Amino acid sequence: MSDKLVYFFGAGKADGSADMKALLGGKGAGLAEMTNLGIPVPPGFTISTEVCTRFYRDGGYPPNLRAEVEQAIARVEQIIGSRLGDGASPLLVSVRSGARASMPGMMDTILNLGLSERTVQALAESTRNPRFAWDSYRRFVQMYGSVVMGAPRGRMEEMLHERKRAAGVKLDTELGEKDLRALVTDLKAFVAERAEKPFPEDAAEQLWGAVGAVFRSWMNPRAITYRQLYGIPDHWGTAVNVQAMVFGNAGDDCATGVAFTRDPQTGENRLFGEFLVNAQGEDVVAGIRTPQPLAEMERLLPEAYRQLMGIRARLEQRYCDMQDIEFTVHRGRLWMLQTRTGKRSARAMVRIAVEMARDGLIDQDTAVLRVEPDKVQELFFPEVEPCPASEAIATGLAASAGAGVGRAVFTADDARAWVDRGEKVVLVREETSPDDLHGMKAAEGILTARGGLTSHAAVVARGMGKCCVVGAGSIEVDSLRGEFRVGDKTVRRGDWISVCGKHGRLFLGKRTVQTPELPGEFHTLMEWADQRARMAVRTNADTPEDARVARRFGAQGIGLCRTEHMFFNPERILAVREMLLAEDEPERRAALAKILPMQRGDFVEIFRIMDGLPVTIRLLDPPLHEFLPKTDKDIDELLRVTGAEPARLRRRNEDLHEANPMLGHRGCRIGLTYPEIYQVQVRAIIEAACELQSQRVKVIPEIMIPLVAHEEELKRMRELCISEAERVFAERGVTVPYTVGTMIELPRACLVADRIAMHADFFSFGTNDLTQTAFGLSRDDAGRFLPFYVEKGVFSRDPFVAIDVDGLGQLMRIAVEKGRAHRADLKVGICGEHGGEPSSVGFCHGLGLDYVSCSPFRVPVARLAAAHAALLEKRGAETGSV
Ligand code: PEP
Ligand code: MG
Repeated sequence: MSDKLVYFFGAGKADGSADMKALLGGKGAGLAEMTNLGIPVPPGFTISTEVCTRFYRDGGYPPNLRAEVEQAIARVEQIIGSRLGDGASPLLVSVRSGARASMPGMMDTILNLGLSERTVQALAESTRNPRFAWDSYRRFVQMYGSVVMGAPRGRMEEMLHERKRAAGVKLDTELGEKDLRALVTDLKAFVAERAEKPFPEDAAEQLWGAVGAVFRSWMNPRAITYRQLYGIPDHWGTAVNVQAMVFGNAGDDCATGVAFTRDPQTGENRLFGEFLVNAQGEDVVAGIRTPQPLAEMERLLPEAYRQLMGIRARLEQRYCDMQDIEFTVHRGRLWMLQTRTGKRSARAMVRIAVEMARDGLIDQDTAVLRVEPDKVQELFFPEVEPCPASEAIATGLAASAGAGVGRAVFTADDARAWVDRGEKVVLVREETSPDDLHGMKAAEGILTARGGLTSHAAVVARGMGKCCVVGAGSIEVDSLRGEFRVGDKTVRRGDWISVCGKHGRLFLGKRTVQTPELPGEFHTLMEWADQRARMAVRTNADTPEDARVARRFGAQGIGLCRTEHMFFNPERILAVREMLLAEDEPERRAALAKILPMQRGDFVEIFRIMDGLPVTIRLLDPPLHEFLPKTDKDIDELLRVTGAEPARLRRRNEDLHEANPMLGHRGCRIGLTYPEIYQVQVRAIIEAACELQSQRVKVIPEIMIPLVAHEEELKRMRELCISEAERVFAERGVTVPYTVGTMIELPRACLVADRIAMHADFFSFGTNDLTQTAFGLSRDDAGRFLPFYVEKGVFSRDPFVAIDVDGLGQLMRIAVEKGRAHRADLKVGICGEHGGEPSSVGFCHGLGLDYVSCSPFRVPVARLAAAHAALLEKRGAETGSV
């Protein structure tokens, strides 16, 4: 623990630097680093995150904080040449929060602190701009009044509007000094009445009030929600940054803006951002006035723009990453207020990583590590297609890609409630605020009438990977009535609308949605990833269509073809039902005769698509309740095709009913009791393989036996497979190499894996069933209480989503060790849902698995996660850490 609590920045050498994010927060570390780079930063200081932690732990500040803050203030006063609270030349400061991870709009900021009835006069005189001074005071009273003293923000906004109405003006900037003075008096009286104490005139009292409010805001509900959403621990705490004010609102040679050093949506290598002339602080991001693009700044404030371009280059050179920056121009002079790593879309993430590596700013390993595996799925985001501008009823700014098709709702609570009852919604707001987070998360898309590309809605939606259009100025939102109007049209709550996040267009009704082309850099990045990964990535594919998609996504084989899923269509399921409900072997064989050509046909197609790659086909594993007829209609249909006697068929259906089908007559238990079923499946596989081999297609069939708990089960099933395959080879006069292996999906199988390995060429972890059986948690019923467990923190994650390393992980480790102890070259993979989840992929890498297999759309995620695991291991080995 460090003794130092307060860190200076802004002139000469700062006390901190870029690598002190944990202690100084992102903002504090950025301000320190910019100072060290010689970039102009208004002087100030950071109160460390440790003070926040101690504030909550001890219920108060550390004893030496006051003295350190006073010293730092004195240093700022000396540099600026004015003093906090001074009646002749007052220093004004901003007070901002700044946690280790960026939490946009989550915490409260206070600007112009130090203004009072006395100092406002001095500011008016020194700037010769009384209007500016009173407007600054007005802003301060509003911010301080709500954030520190708890007066309702909305009522104060209303007071401002009422004043504008009375003065007959529309814009804030049109209010004159006299009105602003009167407004300040009213606002202060209102705050004092609500807080039951006077508005503080003393600058030091103001400062400590603000610092306390920032620390308290770490525990406000929206900050807590944000942290839960993004997995940020509570104990990190926030830092507080106190910084001398520079004014973007002191005239037309002043401005404030936010920018990204590259386009955060497309990744294009150009400065991207927005600014507002004669505006202060949060005006740009708050979406209150729609800002101008930076290209305009080059025309209006050319010198500041030139400086900004220079700083952009320096920051990228220093951080080797795209930066999200905030700046203020005061009397034509540029000041930087923030730099941090910028949030970006998946498209931008991939492009920036590849281009920076090509330009030598980072190496290829870093480029691969820069792309978050889960994020690449966004590249396959659907698009509204076609998306004709002529049919759009409104356009706005394309803030975050994707297609949002749903029913219009106008509050975040409605969004949540409608989605909970199974609806798809688009959240339509005048503008969003952090209070809307839960609704934004629930919605298919977000549409706002105001705000720019860096508004709250835009930044948050991009972070969530959610379709978002902002600043659609032609729509008039009336949240109270639950409708919006555009031209002569009215869209009411519940009406279908479609939002295109790529072009920023809004349509009435439900439009069609398609999946887009992948960007060129994606293939380069994935090539780099594959070169670094040790594990292969296969796919779970049950149909030729799945196999085709997965191959396009770079699958290196099929790790699981669930043969029972090949029958999930109305015609085919009849044949399976007929087989399952057969009374005896001849009846079963009659049904199987129908199934054989269907399966053989599918295998032929799948093998052809996967030419040269392994295809693991699992023999039948139907939990019976998913396949048996349920309704009278199902039974009538079956009676029609089988001609069976109705009472007998119904009785047989009832006989097959199981109390616990997930643990019932499924997997190899079917193969053992009705061997003809597995025989026919093996025949279909081997016949298809022989046929394709004769057509010079390279087939690599792997036959997999499910739900094995005991080695004897596998021994018998292996013999069955081999004798049926031999029969087919003899009939055809050809042979095809094939292997026989097993799923490892029951705890007992893990524990006796050495004995099971005596009969297996490969293992594939079925972590869905292994999780079910290890936890004693029914896959079908867990949904009723698991979300509660996760929400209340009983489990940190849903074990069906991410491998439970502590428990399940041990079982898997035993299985790998025992399996390979018997047979060193045993191939081991995973085909449960976890095979496409990045942290689980990392765990499998550590276990020494040969491959992971996941659903087709997760294949790129798993390829990147596999590369990350290998790179992190390499870096760990290089630095000697584990
Ligand atoms: C598993 O149990 O993990 C598995 C892949 O099989 P299924 O989901 O079909 O039971
Ligand atoms: Mg299973």
